Amino acid sequence: MSEETKHLQTEGISRRSVFGAAALASLVASQAADASPAEEPKAFAPLPSFKFDIENQTGWVGEAGSAKEATAAEFPISQSIAGVSMRLKPGAIRELHWHSLAAEWAYMLEGRCRATVISPNGQSEITDFGPGDTWYFPRGHGHLLQGLGPGECHFLLGFDNGHFSEYGTFSITDWIATTPPAVLSRVLGVPASALAQFPKKEVYIGPGKVPTEPIENFRDGQLQPTQSSHKYRLDMQPPKVFPGGREFIVSSKEFPIQTTLTAVRMDLQPGALRELHWHPHADEWQYYVRGRARVGIFGSHGRVRTEEFGPGHVGFVNQGYGHYIEQIGDEPTEVLILFNSGEFQEISLANWLGGNPVSILQDNFGIPKSLADQLPKRETGILARKA
Ligand code: MN
Ligand code: MN
Repeated sequence: MSEETKHLQTEGISRRSVFGAAALASLVASQAADASPAEEPKAFAPLPSFKFDIENQTGWVGEAGSAKEATAAEFPISQSIAGVSMRLKPGAIRELHWHSLAAEWAYMLEGRCRATVISPNGQSEITDFGPGDTWYFPRGHGHLLQGLGPGECHFLLGFDNGHFSEYGTFSITDWIATTPPAVLSRVLGVPASALAQFPKKEVYIGPGKVPTEPIENFRDGQLQPTQSSHKYRLDMQPPKVFPGGREFIVSSKEFPIQTTLTAVRMDLQPGALRELHWHPHADEWQYYVRGRARVGIFGSHGRVRTEEFGPGHVGFVNQGYGHYIEQIGDEPTEVLILFNSGEFQEISLANWLGGNPVSILQDNFGIPKSLADQLPKRETGILARKA
């Protein structure tokens, strides 16, 4: 059994056939893209769809909250990143749990929630999140989320493994319900008769009381609070400003605990264009919060594909694939983006053109110097609406 298969079975993902036909097709396509021209002629599978409507799913719905997933089972092209749109009612808890397969990132879209998280060094953290705040829980760190009200909170979760499933994680109630009572009684230090009061199965998302302010203390008064917070206030950061928009970016440089993902909030003004570029070492996963956009990807061998995105849609661009994002519509567009690396890397077409002698561009394109001289020399990032 491969390591990957073991992991899949560990987190209950074997319940679904994750390597569906579409996933295989995308693997074949990505391998084909790496083939050298010497190996031609060969049929190259067209680029698969890179769009998924996560908010249009039913997902998991309970009295205290809901969750909609985009994992490799629903969105086969995204083998490296999974996402969940989760909502919690005031007081509701996403119970104590951990993920064996993936680190968890989140961006708070609306409302407020509280998290508790324990690190392997025994340090613990209790902290609150509001709109524009992000968190990062390294793989295996035990955590819980609670809606603080007023009103429902809504957050986008991202995981650094497309085969992860939020519905198949390691929950405290599931563990307790399935451990022999004799063992449990000794470990918890309560009589076996008291165990009947615990849930008989996994709670997942359940009702709870809205916590009173201020934050309650740890049960263990001697416990050291965390010295490495899991919280980063993305929207409080001064953004990078471009002619057509702005970007807030958090990588491991800004948030050292976030070692496996980089997150970007990108705002595009009407008519803006995120120029041609690629990411040498990371896949790009997108969630459209508001507004619309048209994304074009280039997958070698003349293969291109364009999709239109709007609120609640998820997009995915394979590592190394060229792409652009064209803002459409009259309302500004806001996109949350994840890369599956803690280090951010990008190469822009404009910088590449600027990094070559003009005679090379003349020869490569077969164009006169007068035209080559007009080409950009340095990236703009996000171009403003055409005057
Ligand atoms: Mn979690
Ligand atoms: Mn990009």
